[in-house]
Amino acid sequence: MTQLQICFLGIGGSWPCKERSVPAVAIKRGPEIILFDCGEGTQRQFQKSPLSYMDVDRIFISHFHGDHFLGLPGLIQTMSLNDRKKPLQIYGPEGMKKLLNQLLHLGYFTPTYEIVAHEISDGEFVDCGEYKIRAFAVKHCIPTLGYVLVENERPGRFNKKKALELGVPEGPMFGKLQAGQSVKLKDGKTIKPDDVLGKPREGRKIVYSGDTAPCPSLLEAARGCDVLIMDATAGDALKEKAAQYGHSTARQAAELAKEAKAKLLFLFHFSPRYEDASVLEIEAKEVFENSIVSTELCLYDVKMAD
Ligand SMILES: [Zn+2]
Ligand SMILES: [Zn+2]
Repeated sequence: MTQLQICFLGIGGSWPCKERSVPAVAIKRGPEIILFDCGEGTQRQFQKSPLSYMDVDRIFISHFHGDHFLGLPGLIQTMSLNDRKKPLQIYGPEGMKKLLNQLLHLGYFTPTYEIVAHEISDGEFVDCGEYKIRAFAVKHCIPTLGYVLVENERPGRFNKKKALELGVPEGPMFGKLQAGQSVKLKDGKTIKPDDVLGKPREGRKIVYSGDTAPCPSLLEAARGCDVLIMDATAGDALKEKAAQYGHSTARQAAELAKEAKAKLLFLFHFSPRYEDASVLEIEAKEVFENSIVSTELCLYDVKMAD
């Protein structure tokens, strides 16, 4: 089973403060690393984590507020100074191409590798082979995308007992059926994969909210997800202010996670005013028990449901 891990490189909103870095969430799936947002100093956070920034192939930017993209020029240049050769794909809302072009013309710099900007809009997805990343529009004060990473369906479980009953001999035919191919028995009878496989099993699903107030598109995206990483900028006392700036409170994140039947909620994007964000976890847990304040630099394993 391919390992799927989340590493929170930066979990604070607005500006880097002494307690935490600004948004950057790395997802490691097998050898691939996907980065959601790239706040200032992301390459340094990578160096403190178990992951390498050189393994990042795709970066998805949620929106163009500085705390979510100002790490790009530094990360791009650091990759270049380390002689990166493989291309880097950067996705973001409309304006991504212009922004990247501007970032690449800061100071004296020529990258050692190709950097490709892609503009992605609500409902579009990037097919990464064994998984997809879909963008959805959320509710912030400027155009902002959230992203869903969802693995492809896996074949259903192989029913060995049934296969033997149908006369399939143990051996290579088992493998073919498990790989989705029909087999022909000696007596001429054809056995189809559906005859011996259970229902297809859903892949794992991780949802990254971007900066957002609670909204129906996020609720839809988060339905049944394994992990929801959601804006929890403030606590109950600052509910009005959070709404005014297009953010969520920890309790609102918990309410959305509960309604979406998410398995786990990571609270994220804390205002620098919270030296200790545990108060946000307390408020969220009153609504949804599986709420956790994200912690920088540790790896979280997303396990298969069965
Ligand atoms: Zn932000
Ligand atoms: Zn923002």
